[in-house]
Amino acid sequence: MPTYEYECRKCDHRFEEFQSMTDEPVKTCPLCGGEVRRLISGGGGLLFKGNGFYITDHRSESYKRKEREEKGLPAETSEKKEKKKPAVKKTE
Ligand SMILES: [Zn+2]
Repeated sequence: MPTYEYECRKCDHRFEEFQSMTDEPVKTCPLCGGEVRRLISGGGGLLFKGNGFYITDHRSESYKRKEREEKGLPAETSEKKEKKKPAVKKTE
């Protein structure tokens, strides 16, 4: 569940809220009842969205490689990767 960070416009009180994306955003400060705004930078919400896929990809890729190594199979994955890079040209 993402964490949202809020800042009160009135008293500058900062606080975090664990919320699901379907929850209503917090609108009032728990201290003074003033209007709050949601902080985007540094909050968990954006990071969660931006890096989620990358992390999943990276993890599954290294997992596959490890699995391959454990089975003693040739490193087929890295071979495929090199073929995908057009810039690398070997002259032997
Ligand atoms: Zn406040």
